[in-house]
Amino acid sequence: MSALSYVTGDRHSAWSTYLAQVERVLPLLGDLGDWADTLRHPKRALIVDIPLEMDDGSVRHFEGYRVQHNLSRGPGKGGVRFHPNVTLEEVMALSAWMTIKCAALNLPFGGAKGGIRVDPATLSQKELERLTRRYTSEIGLVIGPQQDIPAPDVGTNAQIMAWMMDTWSMNVGATATGVVTGKPVHLGGSLGRVKATGRGVFVTGCRAAAMLGIDVTQSRVAVQGFGNVGSVTAELFHAQGAKVVAVQDHSATLYHAEGLDIPALTAWQQAHGSIAEYPDADRIADEHFWTLEYEILVPAALEGQITAARAEQLACQLILEGANGPTLPDADDVLQQRGIVVVPDVIANAGGVTVSYFEWVQDFSSFFWSEEEINQRLDGIMQGAIDTVWQKAAALDTTLRTAAYAVACERILSARKDRGLYP
Ligand code: NAD
Repeated sequence: MSALSYVTGDRHSAWSTYLAQVERVLPLLGDLGDWADTLRHPKRALIVDIPLEMDDGSVRHFEGYRVQHNLSRGPGKGGVRFHPNVTLEEVMALSAWMTIKCAALNLPFGGAKGGIRVDPATLSQKELERLTRRYTSEIGLVIGPQQDIPAPDVGTNAQIMAWMMDTWSMNVGATATGVVTGKPVHLGGSLGRVKATGRGVFVTGCRAAAMLGIDVTQSRVAVQGFGNVGSVTAELFHAQGAKVVAVQDHSATLYHAEGLDIPALTAWQQAHGSIAEYPDADRIADEHFWTLEYEILVPAALEGQITAARAEQLACQLILEGANGPTLPDADDVLQQRGIVVVPDVIANAGGVTVSYFEWVQDFSSFFWSEEEINQRLDGIMQGAIDTVWQKAAALDTTLRTAAYAVACERILSARKDRGLYP
């Protein structure tokens, strides 16, 4: 194994978490493990400078990235994050998790991810559009419907995807809807995409709950992050009869012993931009979120939230990772010892990339499916994925995460091995 000169080696970085997860699966891969170094090296990492003319005429520079971690099984696939803390190392980890996720779901993609180190809330709509367009032009060298297909992530949305699609299309001289997914439906987007990730968390969560003998209709749920993923997951559990007793976002932690009124909270969040002032719940200390009584926990905010210390305190039975990388490796060990089951991010939150795959297929064929068809196919793929991983975990006597990595790495490394090295 050779270390990369451009990583910090910080033990708690997302990239370190990913590497630790890979190490755990290696003993289970047999001879394919000989190819494992390919997983420790991103295939391609592009850093771009984005000069942006601000509305007041001044010019500011922003740093952007596109990383293609592995393309052995198909074109790169992965979101674009606009966040002030984005770093190359974080984008590398997120791209690597996309490699694992696409393979775990058996989608014909490799893994990629992009981002800009920016707080989009500080920009005007026009500045955001110029930033997005220049970023797209700069990474235009490496993206394309057959090369690498971006999508939304934290801080980006369907409008930003529309600007990306338009910019890339202008540069190549023809409309190419398939260059990004997560677009508005009238621009080649797919029905069901907006709710797909939350739906996947819910579908895999219900399957796992049934395996553990948890009756979802009688269960209590806590959700961290009330954005695209967290709010939809909460909505679906609420609609199923579960009590969503706690919700946390960047601004506040809310608690209601009888269950929050999730449609009302969603409407409040959309109207006010956060849940902080929502009146029909108790506001509790943020750290108290981890020690409350509930059966199911859904971390759906950012990485590194479940530390070993928090894992010691949790009283839940099941964790559904809506976010990417919310659990640190030493916390995974604590959870395993304590018998708390984790449906890992690479399975639980794969609903989004699955419907992105449907969108890409629909754009190629210019033939669009009904929402019912999409949800039916999505549910089937998600249930198949959790069942496969559940059986693998039982066969290997390991966690669902390591089992998901085993399924995925066997597919990635078999592809790598059979393709061979060029030249
Ligand atoms: P989003 O921007 O819509 O929402 C993020 C939420 O997290 C917000 O409610 C925000 O207030 C909250 N948050 C931010 N910092 C927090 C903190 N320190 N403590 C508590 N809450 C905090 O983002 P999203 O699209 O819902 O993505 C959330 C996670 O899910 C990310 O890890 C993302 O990579 C992952 N994910 C998203 C998708 C997708 O389709 N959107 C797909 C797969 C994975």
